[in-house]
Amino acid sequence: MNEDSPRHIVDVLLPLKIDHPYSYLAEGEDSLKAGDWVRVPLGARIETGVVWRTRFAVPERPLKSISERLDMPPMGAVQRRFVEWVADYYLVERGLVLRLCMGARDALLGRRERLTWRLAEDVPEGMRITPQRARVLRLVADSPPLTAAEIARLAGVSPGVVRGLIDAGVLLPLPLPKDAPFEEPEAARPSGLALNAEQEAAASVLRARVAEGGFSVTLLDGVTGSGKTEVYFEAMAAALAKGKQVLLLLPEIALTGTFLKRVAQRFSAEPAEWHSDMTPAARSRVFRAVAEGRARIVVAARSGLFLPWRNLGLIVVDEEHETAYKQDSGVPYHGRDMAVVLGALGEFPVILSSATPSLESLVNVDRGRYGHVTLKKRHGGAYLPEMQLVDLRETPPESGRWLAPPLVEAVSETLDRSEQALLFLNRRGYAPLTLCRACGHRLQCPHCTAWLVHHRFRNVLLCHHCGHESPMPEACPACGVAGKLAPVGPGVERLAEEAAERWPGRRIAVLSSDLLRGARLKRMIQAIARGEYDIIVGTQLVAKGHHFPRLTLAGIVDADLALETVDPRAGERTWQLLAQVAGRAGRAERPGRALVQTWMADNPLMQALVKGDRDGFIALEKRMREQAGMPPYGQLAALILSSRNEEALHALCHDLARRIPRAAEVLVLGPAPAPIAMVRGRHRQRFLVKASRKVHLQAFLRAWLKDVRVPGSIKLEVDIDPYHFL
Ligand code: ADP
Ligand code: ZN
Repeated sequence: MNEDSPRHIVDVLLPLKIDHPYSYLAEGEDSLKAGDWVRVPLGARIETGVVWRTRFAVPERPLKSISERLDMPPMGAVQRRFVEWVADYYLVERGLVLRLCMGARDALLGRRERLTWRLAEDVPEGMRITPQRARVLRLVADSPPLTAAEIARLAGVSPGVVRGLIDAGVLLPLPLPKDAPFEEPEAARPSGLALNAEQEAAASVLRARVAEGGFSVTLLDGVTGSGKTEVYFEAMAAALAKGKQVLLLLPEIALTGTFLKRVAQRFSAEPAEWHSDMTPAARSRVFRAVAEGRARIVVAARSGLFLPWRNLGLIVVDEEHETAYKQDSGVPYHGRDMAVVLGALGEFPVILSSATPSLESLVNVDRGRYGHVTLKKRHGGAYLPEMQLVDLRETPPESGRWLAPPLVEAVSETLDRSEQALLFLNRRGYAPLTLCRACGHRLQCPHCTAWLVHHRFRNVLLCHHCGHESPMPEACPACGVAGKLAPVGPGVERLAEEAAERWPGRRIAVLSSDLLRGARLKRMIQAIARGEYDIIVGTQLVAKGHHFPRLTLAGIVDADLALETVDPRAGERTWQLLAQVAGRAGRAERPGRALVQTWMADNPLMQALVKGDRDGFIALEKRMREQAGMPPYGQLAALILSSRNEEALHALCHDLARRIPRAAEVLVLGPAPAPIAMVRGRHRQRFLVKASRKVHLQAFLRAWLKDVRVPGSIKLEVDIDPYHFL
C-alpha cells in the first residue's frame, strides 16, 4: 500500500491521565465504530480503551494497529458525552473519567480469557496427525478445560499448532459459563400494599413525569417515614413498564441488606447492587448485565452513574442532601449533580428524594428548574418526634461527664418502657484530645496538623487524617512525667463508658466507622432493629436511613459540634444531621422524642430546629448564603497545593498569585495555609475562588492554569463546588 494513501484510523480514549485519544490503524476491522471497546498497544503494554472517533485519512505519522476488539456492547453516545461533560466540568482529563467507566475490568476482558476448548467427536478424515498434534489431542482429552495458551504451554507446542487444530475443527470452543441471570422485576405493586391519599397524589405526579419521558428533575420532599421510598418505587415501576433500566442511588453507607430486601420485595426480583465492597466476579456480572440491558434495577453508590447503561430511563437519588455523594479524591464529582447531568444528556427524568433537602435543590425549585412533590404526614400514624433543647448553661452535666440531667432522665424512662435510646455524637474514638496535666503538652500527629485521638478499645492513638497509629505512652513525650496524660472531651467510646456506668446491665451498641464496617456493620444494624440492644451510641453512621422500630429517644449529645467549622454549609449540615437523627426516633407506632444538648440555645438554628420550623430555618440560611455570595447563589472552586518541599510550594503559590487573570465578579482568596496545614508530612496551601453565577468558572480556571508549570514535587488539585474545607 502506498505511504500516503488514506487508511482507516480509530482514535481511542485510554483510561489514563490524558485528555486526548490516541490514533491507531484499524486494518481488517473496518466495522469498528465510536463506542467500541478495544485493546491497543501502548509502549510495551496493551491497554483497554474505547473508540472515540473513526476516520478515513492519510496517517500523519506511522501508526500502530489495534490489537483486538473486545466482545462487549459498545459504550453508548450518551455515556461518551457524559465522560466529556464530567471532564470539562471538573477540569480533569477525559481518560480519568473513562477510568470511572471501567469499574469491572474482568467484565471487559472476561470472555476472551475464559474461552476454553474441547475435542471434537471425530477427527476430520485425511487429517495428518503429527507428533505435536498428537500431544495436544492427548492433553485435551484428559485435562480440565484449558485455554489455547494453556494448551500450547502444557503440550509444549507452538501456539500455531493449537490454532491449526482449532481452524481444522478438531478443537471446539466449550460453551462459556453464563453469568447467573437477573430476574425480571414485576412493575405491579404486590397486593396488600395500598398508598395513602397523600402518597398516591405524589406517586401520580412522578408516574406522569416518567410517562411523558424527556428530561425533568423532581424533588421528592417528605418527612422521615412519610413513605418517600414507596412513592419513588412507583416511578421506578413506571419506568420498568416502559422497558427501561432504573438506577437507584444511595449514599454508600445506606446500601444495606435490609434496603435491598425491601426493593426485592416490592419488585419480586433481586435488584443488582453496585458499590465498592464487591468481589471482582460480582462486579463483572453486574457490569455485563447492565451493558446488555439484562439488569433492570441497579441499587448503587454514586459510581453507578458510570456503568455502561444500555437503556437507562430513570435515576432516583435517595438522601440527595448527603454530602457523601461528593467524591473527595480522584475525579471530585458530586453524584447527585452528575445524576442530573446524565438525565439531561440521556433525556430522562431524575428524582431527588430527601427529608431534609439540600439548599441547592430547594433553590432550584424556587428558580422553577425542579418540580416539587411533598409528603407531610408520617405513614400509619407514626409520630414525628417531639424536639426539646437541653440548655447546657442551665443544666450542665457533672464534670467529666457528658449527659446532662434531663437527657439522663429521659434515657432511664425510655429503658424502663423497654424501648431503645440513641445517643448521638459525631466523634469517633475515646477522646478528641489527650493532654499532659503536668506541662500542658497536647499529643499531636507527627505528620499532620491534627491531634491524635485516643481509641481505647484498641488502646492506640490514631490520626484521623493520615491514619498514623502509635501506642498510648505512659509518660508525656514532652516533659517525661508519667501518669499525667488525661483525655479531654468526649468521643463515642467515652460516651459508651458513661452509659455503661449509668445504666449497668443494659446492652450497649457502639456504631462507629472505625469499629464496624461491611458485613459486621450490617449484622449489628439488624441486631439493633430486632431490639437486641438497649442503648445505641453512634456517630453519623446511625443517621443514615436505618429503620429501628423500637427506638423512641434520640439524644444529641453535642449539637454545637458541626457549627465550629469554616464550611459554608455547616449550618445546613447540622440541621440535616440533627433532623435525620431525631427522625430515627418514633418511626413505628410509638411516639418518639429528641433531646438536643447545646450551649447555644439562643442560636437561630437551634431555635428553628426545636420548633420544627423548617421554613424559618431555610429562609434564614438562604439569606445568609445569598449575602455571602456562597453556593447556590455563587460558585466556588478550591485549589489545593501540597508538597513536602515547603520552599517549592511557596514559590509556586507566589507564581500562581501573580498570574490570577483579571475578571469581573471573581474573587480569589489566598494563598493561605489550608485549615489542616499539614497532612502526611505534606504542607498544604489553598486558594479559594468565589465567582458570581454569570462567570464561566472553568474557563477562568483554565486561563489561569494554562501556562503554569507544576513541578513533580507538588500536587495541584482543583475542586469545583468543594464540600470539604479542610
Ligand atoms: P421514607 O422513605 O419517607 O422515610 P418509607 O417509605 O421508608 O418512608 O416508609 C416508612 C415506613 O412506613 C416503612 O416501613 C414503609 O414500609 C411503611 N409504609 C409507607 N407507606 C406505606 C403504605 N402505603 N402502606 C404500608 N406501609 C407503608
Ligand atoms: Zn496524621
